[in-house]
Amino acid sequence: MPFTSIPIIAARGTAYEVGYQIGVAALPLLRAMRAETRAEYGAGWETLLRQSAPFQNATRQQLPRVFTEMRGVADGAQIPFDDFFLMSVEELLYAEVKDNGLDAPYGAREKSKGCSDLAAASPATRDGHVWLAHNNDLDARAREQLTLTRFCVTDEPEILAVTVGGWFISIGMNNAGLALTGNQLNANDSRAGIPRLLAVRDILAQRTVDAALNAALRPERASSYNNIISSRDGRIVNVEGSATAAALTWSHERGGALAHTNHYLAPDMERFEADEPHLAMSATRCARALDYARKYHGEIDFEICARFTRDHVYAPWSVCKHAGQSVTVFSALIDLTAAKLWLAVGNPCQNEFVAHELN
Ligand SMILES: [Zn+2]
Repeated sequence: MPFTSIPIIAARGTAYEVGYQIGVAALPLLRAMRAETRAEYGAGWETLLRQSAPFQNATRQQLPRVFTEMRGVADGAQIPFDDFFLMSVEELLYAEVKDNGLDAPYGAREKSKGCSDLAAASPATRDGHVWLAHNNDLDARAREQLTLTRFCVTDEPEILAVTVGGWFISIGMNNAGLALTGNQLNANDSRAGIPRLLAVRDILAQRTVDAALNAALRPERASSYNNIISSRDGRIVNVEGSATAAALTWSHERGGALAHTNHYLAPDMERFEADEPHLAMSATRCARALDYARKYHGEIDFEICARFTRDHVYAPWSVCKHAGQSVTVFSALIDLTAAKLWLAVGNPCQNEFVAHELN
């Protein structure tokens, strides 16, 4: 089924104002997501709300601007703040945090997220630009929840991001020349702290690779995605993190190109892997990403990146994913040097990439 367009939201002002505008613009979407999520957890929702208190405290203390923006979103969408906040705490929704006194996951979501990434800079790219290719795999219903959101917060770099529900950022780039892509990981040391989903918002508010790295590695984090932080100056760093540890890989250590999917690759991080049963489904996509990095070294450009996102080798566990708990809900190609993003909603083999400019 072809998807041709994605709703676009633009918000400008203080952190609260930006959040409020997004909340108003995405009101039907956010209210539907809240109702759906609450229904999914039933009576367990009240327990999860109590358990989210330390996550809220950590976020309020460490990321006050993000916290304020979230207040704006909840107000704009007319959703109780505590519910909206809990919708960002994957560590609780996926029942990752152990020793939390819960009897059972009572409907905890399947760990159904997947993503495949190829990130390349000179000398791996044809034109010396920084090129990023990202396939985002989620429950197919998420296709209807995607938006392209422009965050213009006073005194922060402007951000163009693909979100779920208008505000929950999946990937993005900012006009300070940074981009964030990456993959979900499943770690065994998740704990109360700053939700990884909120760290993403903070990383994109930074202006330098060093600041973005610090944002990704805050000691107060609850867990971590595999965060791929790219800079238009040609540096790309893969931050394969968990709550308590992280391994950094720089693109220049790998001939300019990095590849990652949904399992730990660094030998020092393998002990944190919590999803052994699904490792093979991630390893097939990673093998293809590494194939592209090697085979097309020095030639990576728009066409190679687009071909990567449409790759069906190892189907059904392919980069362009059509079957299973998660399917490809969008593909993004980024030329960070030129500040351009191309987006295909749905499977990229069936949908055209549409260009979007940062400014
Ligand atoms: Zn396909």
